[in-house]
Amino acid sequence: MYAFFWDMPKGGDIHHHLSLSFRPEEVYEVVPHFSVRMGLSNCAGDEGPPLRYRMVSPATLSALPACVHADYKKLSDLNGEEKAAWISALTIDKGYEGRNEFFEVIVNRLTEVARDTAAMRELLARMLKRYAREKVLYVETQYNAPTQEAADLLRKRLAEQDLASLPISVRFQSVAIRFRPDAEEMVERLYDFNHRNRDLWVGLNMAGREDNTKGNALRFLQTFRKMRRKYSGIHLSIHGGEVDAPGPEVRNTLLLGAERIGHGTNLISDPDAMLLMRNGRNLVEVNLVSNRLLEYFTDLREHPFPEYLRFGIPVCLNTDDSGVWDSNLTDEYMLASKLYNLTWAEIMQIGRNSLQYSFAEPALKQQLLDRFEAAVKAFETRYATGDWKSTLATVRPEVSRHAERAILH
Ligand SMILES: [Zn+2]
Repeated sequence: MYAFFWDMPKGGDIHHHLSLSFRPEEVYEVVPHFSVRMGLSNCAGDEGPPLRYRMVSPATLSALPACVHADYKKLSDLNGEEKAAWISALTIDKGYEGRNEFFEVIVNRLTEVARDTAAMRELLARMLKRYAREKVLYVETQYNAPTQEAADLLRKRLAEQDLASLPISVRFQSVAIRFRPDAEEMVERLYDFNHRNRDLWVGLNMAGREDNTKGNALRFLQTFRKMRRKYSGIHLSIHGGEVDAPGPEVRNTLLLGAERIGHGTNLISDPDAMLLMRNGRNLVEVNLVSNRLLEYFTDLREHPFPEYLRFGIPVCLNTDDSGVWDSNLTDEYMLASKLYNLTWAEIMQIGRNSLQYSFAEPALKQQLLDRFEAAVKAFETRYATGDWKSTLATVRPEVSRHAERAILH
């Protein structure tokens, strides 16, 4: 079954945080010169966060007080045991790890890698090749290029032969951190950035823990209205309703102008918003593995995904932070099919939605939809023959560690 879903055409992954979507092995290959904090000795003048397995660039390391240098070890110098501990420290792989480990610990371990724009380009390249092997046609990922120069270098890298020839396209969303004191200015800056980089940056998002109410949606109502007076055609996908309690988060997020809702897990608690979402203009980006590992659902059988799907709300499946979960898009399809008894027509509709509701420009979107339909037809023909077992036997799925831990056994 895993091989079948690995081989199946999958449309797009459109709820995706770039810096949290790399395999630790890929990070190891790309920044072997970075150092990892292995110990926590008491050292005067050390003002960095006392966080084991935090990674720092050579420049950051040399700026740290000398007495703390002994705590750090170059990534390429880790022995087997240390490397395994470091990999584990970058992933949610233990039952007791959850929301706090993710937001307050793991994200900070990766901060310096995310700031290194050269590293990000090469990590993106590796990730796209991996997604292409998994039959994903499109990734729409949340990533802020810190400068125009960084955006231009990224554009150049994507045009190089090894990436331009891949059967996968990538577009970006800018992302504001909603609970920050300066989040309104950040939204305004990002609008301007998107406007100047419309060929690649196709949308804008707001992320960050919603249980921190400093980032509530209505705080931004005037900001988005102001931006719409100035700019046309900047697409919005906004995290909404990724909270435990019932509430109006999704309705308020729609009021900001969001065309797509990230997670929408508590949409089910708001009857008006449910009826509104049924009109088909807006899609919910569902992330099953993420919702379970971040403890929004201890049992995914209680997830509202099948209700949204069969009530007529457009949905698609996404990975959110596949590096930290050590998962892939195959896992999402496999889980959904097992848990909610999806029909083939439903599985295909989910894939189609992920392209139809993407922010890809019209010409690319049409090309992706055409390729998807053709790939589905070819796939159906291959598996509908009497000898589907020998077809399946030729597939070599790359089983994720999350699937090994939590889906297959
Ligand atoms: Zn997200």
